[in-house]
Amino acid sequence: MTATKPIWIKDPLAILADGAERGIVIQDGRIVELVAAGREPQTRDTVAFDAAQHVVVPGLINTHHHFYQTLTRALPAAMDRELFPWLKALYPVWARLTPQALDLAVTVAMAELLLSGCTTTTDHHYLFPRGLEDAVDIEVAAARRLGLRVLLTRGSMNLSERDGGLPPDSVVQDEDLILADSVRVVERFHERGEDAMVQIALAPCSPFSVTTSLMRATAELAARLDVRLHTHLAETQDENEFCQQLYGCRPLDYLEDCGWLNERTWLAHGIHFNDDEGRRIARAKTTISHCACSNQLLASGCCPVCDLEEAGVAIGLGVDGSASNDGSNLIQEVRSAFLLQRARYGVSRVSHKDALRWATQGSAACIGRPELGRIEAGKIADLALFRLDELRFSGHGDPLAALVLCGGHRADRVMVGGRWAVENGAIAGLDIADLIRRHSVAAAALRAG
Ligand code: ZN
Repeated sequence: MTATKPIWIKDPLAILADGAERGIVIQDGRIVELVAAGREPQTRDTVAFDAAQHVVVPGLINTHHHFYQTLTRALPAAMDRELFPWLKALYPVWARLTPQALDLAVTVAMAELLLSGCTTTTDHHYLFPRGLEDAVDIEVAAARRLGLRVLLTRGSMNLSERDGGLPPDSVVQDEDLILADSVRVVERFHERGEDAMVQIALAPCSPFSVTTSLMRATAELAARLDVRLHTHLAETQDENEFCQQLYGCRPLDYLEDCGWLNERTWLAHGIHFNDDEGRRIARAKTTISHCACSNQLLASGCCPVCDLEEAGVAIGLGVDGSASNDGSNLIQEVRSAFLLQRARYGVSRVSHKDALRWATQGSAACIGRPELGRIEAGKIADLALFRLDELRFSGHGDPLAALVLCGGHRADRVMVGGRWAVENGAIAGLDIADLIRRHSVAAAALRAG
């Protein structure tokens, strides 16, 4: 095998890094050099990629999603409802999910993400109806096919309507089975080290669909296996009331009681915390995935991102499930988070650079991958390159700001670990038209029951 030559991403139109006006050099999957204005690369024998038309940013990192929900976007039966009634309308549909349909759903979600500049994504998969026991295996295969870096979760639900939970019996599993399968997927798929392409975390769905026993056992197992923990928390006011009724405390107290308030945990949403809870989360080094589109669509509220950051909490961004967004476009999520948080905090506290920081460094902190999310020498070469030659960008005065403010939506090139996963706006080997056709048929079958 011949060694590949270093790539010089040369003279970018703009780049989200200091001292890299003439670009960056990539070698063996890492950023090895930043080339300052007026300089030439020190690295020898580079092959130049002309980036004069490209805005270069660290690959965006998605910290919350449910891939399978691409099959139930804009579903009339669930539209215009808040979280709990929305979930109750969708659970019976999701219970019919098959391995073939999941494979298509996952491929659609990952393709959407890649084409929007995402290089690393998580997925919170907690749905294992009979016949779909290998859901995580299906997701790993799709990620490897597409060349996307992933932190997939072995999610779970075991508290059904019968026991006071929200989901129907048909979508829950028993605790022993969940824990045994968690061990299986971690041992089989979880890679360690900075260049890991596939990692696994454990992720009970939420306090209203999982027993206390499973919450505790999952935290203990995650510590034993040294993997991360994820769940939904403080998403709605309904959840506060549910927690108070069932457990006699607020969601964060419950989380702490279950052994979850630590640096292993990242939480989706984190909207309904008070100031004291924000400080406790910061001390524990727990992190938050802000899901701006989903929170607006379900009218769940607005995560107090600036207050949490000031308290010391790292904030990442998540597109959340495609039935509550209803898209998987991460650069659009950056814009949405920027607008939502600016409306809350004002122009002096939130800039487009803050929103990009949340989607890169912040998200990297969320998933425990500090080697990602920055354009610096020594970091992993995960990059997103956007062209600004569409009508929507015409007339801009600042390329990096234009990417967010003018509504960038599609990356021209995406590099994951030094390899091009997207070139000229296309994913190699993926027939998008055929994928849409097959995915649409699967979605129609799921709706029909
Ligand atoms: Zn979610």
